[in-house]
Formats: sequence, structure tokens, C-alpha cells
Amino acid sequence: MQPLNIDVAQMTTFLVDLLNMPSPTGYYVEAIEYVQRSFAALELPDFTLSLTPKGALVGLWRGIAQNAPRGVTAHVDTLGLMVKEIKSSGRLKTTQLGGFMWNAVEFEGVTVRTYTNQRYRGTVLPQNPSTHVNREIADAKRSADLMEVRLDARTSSADETRALGIEVGDFVFLDPRVEVTDTGFIRSRHLDNKSGVAVIYGALLALKEVGLRPAQDTTFLIANYEEVGHGGSSGFPPDLAELLTIDMAAMGEGQSSDEFSVTICVKDTTGPYHFLMNNKLRRLTETFNIQAKIDIYPYYGSDGSAYWQAGGPARVGLIGPGVDASHAYERTHQDGLLHSAHLTARYLLDPAS
Ligand SMILES: [Zn+2]
Repeated sequence: MQPLNIDVAQMTTFLVDLLNMPSPTGYYVEAIEYVQRSFAALELPDFTLSLTPKGALVGLWRGIAQNAPRGVTAHVDTLGLMVKEIKSSGRLKTTQLGGFMWNAVEFEGVTVRTYTNQRYRGTVLPQNPSTHVNREIADAKRSADLMEVRLDARTSSADETRALGIEVGDFVFLDPRVEVTDTGFIRSRHLDNKSGVAVIYGALLALKEVGLRPAQDTTFLIANYEEVGHGGSSGFPPDLAELLTIDMAAMGEGQSSDEFSVTICVKDTTGPYHFLMNNKLRRLTETFNIQAKIDIYPYYGSDGSAYWQAGGPARVGLIGPGVDASHAYERTHQDGLLHSAHLTARYLLDPAS
């Protein structure tokens, strides 16, 4: 059995840099460029990178065999906001990119990006939020109408805000607030699913270190529209036999997933993943002593589901590290990254089709 080293420190460095790069669904330039640069720097043999017209990153790694091509995917797009209206107060009404509780972004710092790429700082808050003035605010239901962005710029009218260059349609980036603790936890927004992209990076790194290539031709898709449901619907070759999707595991009451393991998701809202893939992944965790959980996610779909819904013929599986408080201020652990990258690497090397 070939030993594999998973370099958690380097995965973490990659992840922290990626988390600090804004990529709400619909805006991906810096993040995709960063992943492209990082993958290219690995200098893997017979590995080529390209971009799809819609901006996703595709890597093709020539494997030992070509008879049952594989895909591996993770999405780099995250939650965010977009300017919906400029209010007469000069503040911004926003619309959500992806789905989340408004409570989860209350009082979060943001950066507004204008059409000409100027950046303004600000904060998401409910209208009239001071408890010295408004006693009703604690119980007011948070909604797109109640919440607004207060800009750190001198403006008290729509005209003044427009004069800053801000307009309807501008992206609003949520501060990720990344922190790596000495106990191995990674606390940040957007671990869904930048942790999944880091898992792919860690698996590539592990194979590079031992000079191995995948068992089959493998297409890696770093998708940029998962949070709105169509990241994985294109970008793969038509003759794919298997697709391994890497995305966060959903933790909570009744769930078996945790932050220290890789989870094999056997079913989510969109139905069961392919049982031959599930069985293969379980076998790999047993053979290589990879700490794993098996789970079902109640309100969840992945780019594997998007691929299937778009008519993709491959057998699809879903794995990933546990992420606590998903679509809010999230947390995972380096052990979850480790086991997820290890399973991904073992999957890439596995000769069984
Ligand atoms: Zn996700």
C-alpha cells in the first residue's frame, strides 16, 4: 500500500488565501485566477487547465487508463449580496446571492464593488438599529426590506451615493472573518465550499509528492455557480463514467457528520447518490483507515445533482468535510480537511471502475 502524505499546513494556507478572496455567485475573477495559479504551480505531468466561457476552471489530468473517465468537482462561489436599490437615505437595499438567514449577516462588514472596480466598505444592519432609540428592533423580523447597507462614505442621499459610482447590480462582498486556531479549527464564512476546493488541492498535492497520476483520465471542475443550482451542469466531457462531488457535510441535530471526519453523503433533497459510488467510497475509507461518517442531508443539493439534472450519464457520489453553522459564520477542523483530501486522493488512484 503506497503511503500518502496529506499536507494539511499547505492546504490550510491555500484555503485561508482563497477565503479572503471574494467570490459570491456571479463574481469569480480573483478566486478562479487564484485557484488556476495554485493548480498550475503544482506542475503536474500531463495536466492542462482551461476556463469555460462562463468562467469555471477545468483541469484535465491524463490518467493511466482512458476507458472510464472520471470527474471531480467543488465549487468556489459563495453567498453574498447585490445592490437592489439605492435608498433616499443614501443607504443600500440589497438582494441575496444564494440562500441564507438575514440574521446570519446582521452587523457583518462588507465591501461594495462598483462597475469600475472601486471598493467601498460598509456594514449590513437593520434600519434604525440603535437600542437607545428603537426598542422594537430586537423583535423585528429580518428581511430584505428591513436590512440595509450603511456605507463608510459621506452620503445621505441617493444622488450622493450614485456620485460615488455605486449603482444597482454592484456586488457586495461579506467579510469572511477567517481565523485558524491553535486547536486546528478554521472559523470563517464561505467554508462552503472553499474547503472543498482546498480538499482537491490537497489531493493533487499528495499525488504530486509521490509522483503518481490518477487511475483514469480525470476532469477537475472548479465551478462558479453552485449556490444558484447550475455550477455542475456543464464543463465535463460527455463520456464521464463517474463524478465525485466534494462539498461541505451538513451538521446539526440528528446528523452524523462532524468537523473531524469526511462524510459520504448517500442522499440529499435531490435523491440518493449512486450506490456503486457510495460503496466504492466506503470501501476506500475502510481499506485506508480514513475517518468517515455516512449521512443524509435534509435540505441540500450539490453540483452532482446539477450534473444529473442536466442529463449527465455518470455515476455520482458526494463527500466532504463537516461544516458547522452552514451558510452563517461557519467552522470546520483541519482533521476534516485531512480525511477528505485523503479519500479524494485514494479515489483518484483507485483502479476499479
Ligand atoms: Zn456548497
